[in-house]
Amino acid sequence: MNSVFVICEIDDAKIADVSLELLTKGRSLANRLKCKLEAIVLGSELDGIEKELFPYGADVVHIGDDPRLKPYTTLPHAAVINGLFREEKPQIGLLGATTMGRDLGPRVSSALGSGLTADCTALEIGDHEEKKANMVYKDLLYQIRPAFGGNIVATIINPDHRPQMATVREGVMKKEIYSASHKGVVKKIDVSKYLKPEDLVVKVLERHMEKSRVNIKNSSIIVAGGYGMGSKENFNVLYELAELIGGEVGASRAAVDAGFADHDRQIGQTGVTVRPKLYIACGISGQIQHTAGMEESSMVIAINNDPMAPINRIADYVIVGDVMDVIPKMITYYKKNSK
Ligand code: FAD
Repeated sequence: MNSVFVICEIDDAKIADVSLELLTKGRSLANRLKCKLEAIVLGSELDGIEKELFPYGADVVHIGDDPRLKPYTTLPHAAVINGLFREEKPQIGLLGATTMGRDLGPRVSSALGSGLTADCTALEIGDHEEKKANMVYKDLLYQIRPAFGGNIVATIINPDHRPQMATVREGVMKKEIYSASHKGVVKKIDVSKYLKPEDLVVKVLERHMEKSRVNIKNSSIIVAGGYGMGSKENFNVLYELAELIGGEVGASRAAVDAGFADHDRQIGQTGVTVRPKLYIACGISGQIQHTAGMEESSMVIAINNDPMAPINRIADYVIVGDVMDVIPKMITYYKKNSK
């Protein structure tokens, strides 16, 4: 059985979280398919990078260490991956749905004529029966993602071409160490074999990285506000509550669109996916596009003046009332009762 490959990404000289999340998922897919899990890392000064990948279950780590591969540019990275994939013939190729992955994935899949499903929310292995042709395709990658504005969940398969390629957004899959002592093989990629002069025509003269100040993804407590908060000014009570209990402020898309909060706080299908210990949803109705980004929170408290709001169905505790009445009371009682 050909391998499952994960194209890894480097973030601040470390393997990006999304790549470790994909390796975790890739490991379970490879176990199911009884094949190897292989990782590819391209860049420069990558000594020892494999040590970050083996605990996540990589059996083989392909390393392309070459100054021409740093910083990321489309053509050389695509040329190396295309060349390697042509030789290795993976059955599955996974990338993060990041700026890099969204650029690189389609380049590779179109060069190999393989197809790609973007922004998957789940990946599974299963069979497909083509009744008319009386054919059963075994062990396909089910590439599962919301479609038609989130109104349906589509399962997409690619029976005819390889690799079956998919991108997955950061935070959607869990990152879990497979075995701290798991060891694999390192294979050095002969980068020069794949690079042609025309792949190197783009030179990056200067790079400026704008880092978001908001870190909702890693926050264990999120106080999220929706359109029901009523105004940007009313969001101030959310900032006050979040600071008091050591959390971050998130928002629904309706709240972001109304200008109550910045886009980097948006949670959901087109925002960030979060898994905090506590999620307090304030004036959020709980549409599927929002809950897709927070439904794996350990505990959800919903504050809503509508007892029938859909968010209440996934909440552990529901407070029915006006947010501007309930939240200031929570702040007062918390201050009074905490030392
Ligand atoms: P509303 O649906 O307007 O709900 C407001 C809630 O507040 C209601 O339940 C109401 O009862 C309650 N309320 C009102 N006043 C008060 C009050 N004074 N006190 C207490 N409760 C009150 N949405 C996202 O959030 N994230 C996404 O990433 C996202 N992506 C999308 C992608 C696509 C392709 C599409 C089509 C939509 C997407 N949406 C997303 C939008 C989503 O469908 C909903 O429109 C949005 O989540 C609604 O936000 P809301 O719950 O804040 O507002």
